Amino acid sequence: MTPTFTPTDLKRISAHLGMTEEDFKKKWLYKERSSGDWMNKKQPCQFLDTKTNMCDIYEVRPADCAGFPHLQKKLKDFVHIHKQNVEYCPATHKMVEKMKQWETGELIITAVEKDKALARSKRKEDMSMNSGPVTY
Ligand code: SF4
Repeated sequence: MTPTFTPTDLKRISAHLGMTEEDFKKKWLYKERSSGDWMNKKQPCQFLDTKTNMCDIYEVRPADCAGFPHLQKKLKDFVHIHKQNVEYCPATHKMVEKMKQWETGELIITAVEKDKALARSKRKEDMSMNSGPVTY
């Protein structure tokens, strides 16, 4: 799994590292033929500190990393990404499980049951308020 580096990412990160964009690309990246995206040559990512499990360039990390796991974005544009991430990312896994529940109707049933329970409790509350002593 590798992030993609946009032109803005390349500019920001190479400046942060005190490198030219060309040197940065030559050292760390390759251009994928089909998409034209700049991606890491190395996995895991060269900026992952394997001792601390922290990102060495966190404050200037690629937009792709900052937006991970991309759950707020248009689903149809990120299906291929979610497919890759579902094995590794608990948030993506949870989203897929929820979608399966929607597909089978489990979540809809749960939501309907919750609404009914709420309505019942509201009715009980109204009845108990109206059943007290009448004072004039
Ligand atoms: S967050 Fe940092 S370490 Fe992780 S993939 Fe992105 S750049 Fe690499």
